Amino acid sequence: MAKLMKGLDTKLIHAGEPEELIGGAVTMPIFQSSTYEYAGQRSYHDLRYIRLNNTPNHVALHTKLAMLENAEAALVAGSGMAAISAALLAVVGGGGHLLAQDCIYGGTHDLLTQDFPALGIEVDFIDGDDPGLWREMLRPNTRAIYVETISNPLVRVSDLQAASDFAAENGLVSMIDNTFASPVNFRPAEIGFDLSLHSATKYLNGHTDIVAGAVIGRADLVDQVTHKLNHLGGVLDPHACFLLHRGLKTLGVRVRHQNESALRVARFLEQQERVTKVNYPGLESHPNHLRACELLDGFGGVLSFELEGGVEMADQFIANITIPISAPSLGGVETLITRPVTTSHSGMAAEDLARAGIREGLVRLSVGLETSDDLIEDFDRALRATYD
Ligand SMILES: *Cc1c(COP(=O)(O)O)cnc(C)c1O
Repeated sequence: MAKLMKGLDTKLIHAGEPEELIGGAVTMPIFQSSTYEYAGQRSYHDLRYIRLNNTPNHVALHTKLAMLENAEAALVAGSGMAAISAALLAVVGGGGHLLAQDCIYGGTHDLLTQDFPALGIEVDFIDGDDPGLWREMLRPNTRAIYVETISNPLVRVSDLQAASDFAAENGLVSMIDNTFASPVNFRPAEIGFDLSLHSATKYLNGHTDIVAGAVIGRADLVDQVTHKLNHLGGVLDPHACFLLHRGLKTLGVRVRHQNESALRVARFLEQQERVTKVNYPGLESHPNHLRACELLDGFGGVLSFELEGGVEMADQFIANITIPISAPSLGGVETLITRPVTTSHSGMAAEDLARAGIREGLVRLSVGLETSDDLIEDFDRALRATYD
């Protein structure tokens, strides 16, 4: 009888695992072999070779990831940017036009603005909250719309259903970077998205020890992206596949804890008089709170806030805090704190930052798996040490 696999947590453990245990091993072994015996394959892409993304370690991950988002197929890549760049090149390509949300991840933004023009790919940026304006931006060569589930660092949730519907109505491919939500909080295929992209470096792996990416979605499109990635070479090696596979098994327990802990920290911060603003979609005060409640199963582990006194006090506060490590990135087991203007958004011009509403003193927090009472006490002490 086929294994019962309905819930996300069951899929995390059992989906994609070998039906017959290999040598009796309970955990999927690492296949440290670059090439495999020829078995009569007709197509280049079917030869078994690490760069062609089809070793047993890749195949197991592909099945697991596709099932997690209730999608048809998946592909792992050497980094989030390898996944995103290969997907965009496969879908949009030379001569194509892309509509992209205006406040996307810095690496993606730079790819679109610095590399795509030379490849003959045109891009227009759209307000993810204003679907009425999108139609005017359509061109005969528009091929895709690209959004993010939860934006960085203001954790906005744009009109995702409208983006998916707009793509379907206009023959575009709908693409979404689902890194911040993870499949625990949002599964894009369920509201019609064609391709979901991940920096698996973040929540999917969750242990801050590898860089990896994933593309999940429609089988025909994942196949096109696989061929593109096979040519570009941004493959995930078997050791990293193994670590991602191991990290994934605890995704459910990790992210649910992070959802809960981040909400507690956000509520605590919102009550402090020195904290002038808290951005977290789980707070009633967040502009997209109702939409986030409708779309998401949880609000994620990332929040941002502003302190009285701006940059100077923000830096003092970061110096006074003891548990969070001051580092970019997110989604790992340890709480990380950063000032986006000095890290993830340091490439943005002052006027673009102002337009996006990202203040210099804004502090971003990625809540890890520490005891949330300890985090809150640490924040409390650091606030006192900064202002008293
Ligand atoms: C980190 C990140 C990326 C890039 O992923 P890498 O694994 O660093 O290449 C893309 N999108 C989002 C939302 C991210 O946070």
